Amino acid sequence: MRRVTILGATGSIGQNTIDLIRRQKSQIDVVALTGGRNIEQLAKDAIELGAEIAVTAYDDLLQELREALSGSGVKASAGTAALNEAAAQPADWIMSAIVGVAGLEPGLVALKQGATLALANKETLVTAGPLVLETARRNDAKILPVDSEHSAIFQALQGEDIASVSRVIITASGGAFRDWPIESLASATPEQAAKHPNWSMGQRITIDSASMFNKALEIIETREYFDFLPEQIEVIVHPESLVHALVGFRDGGMMAHVGPPDMRHAIGYALNWPQRLDLPVESLDLTSIGSLTFAQPDLTRYPALRLAREVMEMRGLTGAVFNAAKERALDHFIAQRIGFCDMNVIVETVLEQLSSNEGLIDTEITLDTVREADHLARQRVDALVGK
Ligand code: NAD
Ligand code: MG
Repeated sequence: MRRVTILGATGSIGQNTIDLIRRQKSQIDVVALTGGRNIEQLAKDAIELGAEIAVTAYDDLLQELREALSGSGVKASAGTAALNEAAAQPADWIMSAIVGVAGLEPGLVALKQGATLALANKETLVTAGPLVLETARRNDAKILPVDSEHSAIFQALQGEDIASVSRVIITASGGAFRDWPIESLASATPEQAAKHPNWSMGQRITIDSASMFNKALEIIETREYFDFLPEQIEVIVHPESLVHALVGFRDGGMMAHVGPPDMRHAIGYALNWPQRLDLPVESLDLTSIGSLTFAQPDLTRYPALRLAREVMEMRGLTGAVFNAAKERALDHFIAQRIGFCDMNVIVETVLEQLSSNEGLIDTEITLDTVREADHLARQRVDALVGK
């Protein structure tokens, strides 16, 4: 039996993971499920899957969780330390699907016990890439990418020599506002931004798709995970979201990964790797699709892509600053304190302010230095917003 834990079990990735685990129930023991405020979902899944522990990130919800689990035999716990304890429970495979930098520490804890980390939480590599990869190496733990583009690149690289790669192209749908006139973006609302044309995902990543902050995080994630040079990593707009990424080799050949926009493919690939097993994912009918389209992204529409290039060049703690400024600006946008385009201006300002500080690039990346950079960036964002 494989022992499996899901961090962020109540979210979009977490629920898709549970859907797959339910289908392989006879081979899997569920160790821990963690969630946030959705206690009903967390308790229901923990009971159904026979988890050993269920953890909510919020201390004030412990009593509610205890009541929801009473008589089931599933242990309840709450808070940040409890999340880390859940990640430390012996497991073979741990899904990292918490949203935001909150996923970093439990992910590191999971790697320290040598578990295979299925990584959906892109913030982990964006904020602390070298620390995360070194922790995996030292503990002989494997990291398998779950972000669809990174899973696609990983799959295209199986059996290939990474030195023969000349370029990688990750695709972007263009998000909710791809076809909006640029002038109207300033008045876009959080509800409008949270409607993705193709993928069904959590609210925050969906809004990040409209601004392409999501793609910005993904190109940094690509650099960190695969160690490609910034100039080897390209982004193209592909409105159909069927080609997830392409890897180009020195001999001119390109491997494209094609599939429906269904995260259960990338999750299932990481769950079954190195095997491929049946998954409940549609096989595309290419003749009914007919054609696929690709275009250059417009950097005026998506300034986040330009900022990601700067972060990839500077590295150090600039990834932590970039991500934290983005997370905090997104909080303000969701609370309607700032407009959609203000997010770009704010993140760029904070990145500029803080990256002129030498220490940001030279300081060693540790959990503490990442936390400090994260905190500082959030403070700067709040100061700019006047909150
Ligand atoms: P979501 O908002 O649907 O779910 C997030 C999960 O994290 C929930 O279980 C929530 O309770 C938990 N959570 C939220 N804040 C927390 C905190 N402070 N501490 C502990 N737990 C907390 O998000 P999602 O769309 O499932 O995305 C999860 C991660 O996967 C993100 O990093 C996202 O970028 C990445 N990702 C998602 C998709 C997708 O299709 N949804 C695709 C690729 C990558
Ligand atoms: Mg992605």
